[in-house]
Amino acid sequence: MAKEGHKYIFVLGGVMSGVGKGVVTSSIGLLLQQKGYPVNLVKVDPYLNVDAGTMNPTEHGEVFVLRSGLETDQDMGNYERFLGRDLTNEDYMTSGMVYQSVIERERALGYGGKCVEAIPHVRDEILRRIESAAAYNGSRISVVEIGGTIGDFQNALFIEAARVLKMEHPEDVLFVIVSYLPTPGTLGEMKTKPTQTAVRELNGYGVQPDFIIARSKEPVDDKRKEKLSVSCSVRRDRIISAPDIGSIYEAPLNFEKDALGDALLDALQLPEKRRASLAAWKKFVRAATNVKAPEVSIAIVGKYFDTGDFVLSDAYLSVIEAIKFSAAKLGRRAVISWINSKDLEKGGAKAVSVLQKYHGIIVPGGFGESGIEGKIRAIQFAREKKIPYFGLCYGMQLMIVEYARHMLGLKGAHTTEIKKNAEHPVVDVMLEQKKHLADNKYGGTMRLGVYPAYLKKGTLARAAYKKELVEERHRHRYEINSKYVKPLEEAGLVFSGTSPDGILMEIAELPRAKHPFMLGTQFHPELQARPLTPHPLFTEFLRAAIARKRKK
Ligand code: GLN
Repeated sequence: MAKEGHKYIFVLGGVMSGVGKGVVTSSIGLLLQQKGYPVNLVKVDPYLNVDAGTMNPTEHGEVFVLRSGLETDQDMGNYERFLGRDLTNEDYMTSGMVYQSVIERERALGYGGKCVEAIPHVRDEILRRIESAAAYNGSRISVVEIGGTIGDFQNALFIEAARVLKMEHPEDVLFVIVSYLPTPGTLGEMKTKPTQTAVRELNGYGVQPDFIIARSKEPVDDKRKEKLSVSCSVRRDRIISAPDIGSIYEAPLNFEKDALGDALLDALQLPEKRRASLAAWKKFVRAATNVKAPEVSIAIVGKYFDTGDFVLSDAYLSVIEAIKFSAAKLGRRAVISWINSKDLEKGGAKAVSVLQKYHGIIVPGGFGESGIEGKIRAIQFAREKKIPYFGLCYGMQLMIVEYARHMLGLKGAHTTEIKKNAEHPVVDVMLEQKKHLADNKYGGTMRLGVYPAYLKKGTLARAAYKKELVEERHRHRYEINSKYVKPLEEAGLVFSGTSPDGILMEIAELPRAKHPFMLGTQFHPELQARPLTPHPLFTEFLRAAIARKRKK
């Protein structure tokens, strides 16, 4: 079934999730790419949702939108950032997608009257998707990350598919297990047993790992490597220590120190095509991890971070990374503070003054009512106190609501997402979205993916991008109501980016004479920011924030 000689590396998790399988997968991708091999990375998510678009970001983290508009897992964002290129629909699958295709095919008599079963039909659909991703990308090596851990019930079919592929092509398939070695405080000693158990569990599927990436707080010593090697039957040089690091971008460099790239090529029986040049990457990592770089402090005013007693910033992952890339480029260290917009609401007008001490304020994407007046207050504060402000999607829509309320005197201005019969619906549902909402069709129906925007001469946006036509990724149902564009412009707001037909407002800003940086985008610029190519709008925003710091 698979293309002859095509190579596959499956990355699986042992012991527990959340220990960096995505970073391992991305790093392997980068290393092999640097060694001259075209690589594609595939994320397999075992849940039944057909895509990640309908999931609560507090629980699941950010929804990463591909160029095509597919709403995927945040790992896909890491893959794109490490590889430095766009990924496609083929590179992502969920159990929901797999089952949907099988069921649709069955309904269309596609199985010729056979009893349709998990094995072979669902398993084969998984394999078909893995292979079509390889073919579509024209790659030589596919790295496939299976979400969750080996022990998850719902992963069984994916592991089974990988096992069959290995059985048919023993030379071409590798298994990498990313495991965790805890050091319990009471013992003070690193324990290998959970990893041994995870490997045994994998053996139960008929799969033997070729590599163990041993994640832990401190580096894994020789004694423990030896123990793992013997008990898990994995060659000693294929047990790779991966201690905690300050920045995920250091991971490929650390792995390269252990010659992981060469070891993988050796195991795949592929020659090294060129020595990996990681010079540009190293330069970026040096800048991004320079603790001596002067600070620039950014407040992100959002709501998706309180889970129980913990603060989780995963929902805004790409925003954080985009800030880091631009900060590194400017030789600064960004310090990000999380401001819960619900607190700004509760605390009244005074609460918002905590924002005074920051060099820049961001209101990122969001949905729904909770915390919304707190965000509007933050935006008003940024505008009046001339603190650099960057609004992303919801952050732009609310910037318009604030401006209409306070600069146009339209007290009843609102978005119809929150107030259906707003007196002044300055942000309104897009025409084509009305039907989706009426039919309860929420999955994959927003305005999604890349759309072009024209930038007006003489604006901040145009100066930042240094070009007239840009393409950015979207994810929204609401838009600036065209009826209010003229009055807003007359009140001093500039729509510096619009759709080519001039109908949709893509970027709003205040002229530099009025405010050092007050700009909002209907799209999500953070989705296209990359370590080696930071996003120009984030860079300009940070420049303004740095200037504020100097002035203070
Ligand atoms: N809730 C808004 C809309 O649907 C903004 C979406 C977003 O911030 N991604 O248009």
